[in-house]
Amino acid sequence: MLAYTYVEHGKFELREKPKPEIINSRDAIIRVTLGSICTSDLHIKHGSVPRAIPGTTVGHEMVGVVEEVGADVTLVKPGDRVTVNVETFCGECFFCKRGYVNNCTDSNGGWALGCRIDGGQAEYVRVPYADQGLNRIPDTVSDEQALFVGDVLATGFWATRISEISEDDTVLIIGGGPTGICTLLCVMLKKPRRIIVCEKSPERIRFVREHYPDVLVVESENCKDFVIQNSDHGGTDVVLEVAGSEDTFRLAWECARPNAIVTIVALYDKPQFLPLPDMYGKNLIIKTGGVDGCDCAEILNLIEEGKIDTTPLITHRFPLKEIEEAYRIFENKLDGVIKVAIYK
Ligand SMILES: [Zn+2]
Ligand SMILES: [Zn+2]
Repeated sequence: MLAYTYVEHGKFELREKPKPEIINSRDAIIRVTLGSICTSDLHIKHGSVPRAIPGTTVGHEMVGVVEEVGADVTLVKPGDRVTVNVETFCGECFFCKRGYVNNCTDSNGGWALGCRIDGGQAEYVRVPYADQGLNRIPDTVSDEQALFVGDVLATGFWATRISEISEDDTVLIIGGGPTGICTLLCVMLKKPRRIIVCEKSPERIRFVREHYPDVLVVESENCKDFVIQNSDHGGTDVVLEVAGSEDTFRLAWECARPNAIVTIVALYDKPQFLPLPDMYGKNLIIKTGGVDGCDCAEILNLIEEGKIDTTPLITHRFPLKEIEEAYRIFENKLDGVIKVAIYK
């Protein structure tokens, strides 16, 4: 089968590999029907994910059809259409039992798929702990509608959940890329008084304005003033920092009102500076992390009910054999790309 593979620092390649097989009784083999490319794939390519193992098939955003299951898999069966979770988790350890599945203590717990174990930019993928990592897609939900459930949308949903948003709140989302927009869709479900999206790319600003006209959009350089003018207590009640750029961590806490919740969703390339003397008296609650992707069933229900629709994010479609070109477009942010769908 074809599998897009992390060869070495700076190099991915489409290779012929054997079809994966069941190794553990809790595994399932999935025939990938649709996949996508995530910024984290680029992080692997550029060497900022030290735990990524050369030779691994990349890709951790995908949906597919169950081909085969191990003896101890009970919740899915061959023929089921499923979403695949970016995270591998056992469901039984201390962290899993509390919903902190990103910190599952299994040796492959957390983000392993397409990083340390073969992922889904391929024709087939083996998913460990299939009962945890797979969710059945309702018949009325298409592959494209479900494509982001296991990764970027799970991230937006989790970030929104931990941000404790109420209907009186003004919420600032820093970053209007794929994860920022998925976060926006989930924040909108909480019906806060105002939502402000801060973004620097004119194309993405246009995208947000066109699709979500009730949302206020501001460029990065005007963000602080705009937030003061458009919030009730000298800053927003909640800030979600999704961008992970040079200055956005500072921007996040500066735009927060005293006692606000600041949720850091972004994955930074470099350490960030926490200037506690400058922050003194602001009494912020800062939450950080990587997604705990344990809400996929609930997200699929919301998609089925028409409450979340991420299909406008799919701006480009390529067959797997042209994945090189898909990467070129996505990596260089060409042609107004938000997300790419890769089909067989
Ligand atoms: Zn990802
Ligand atoms: Zn666990």
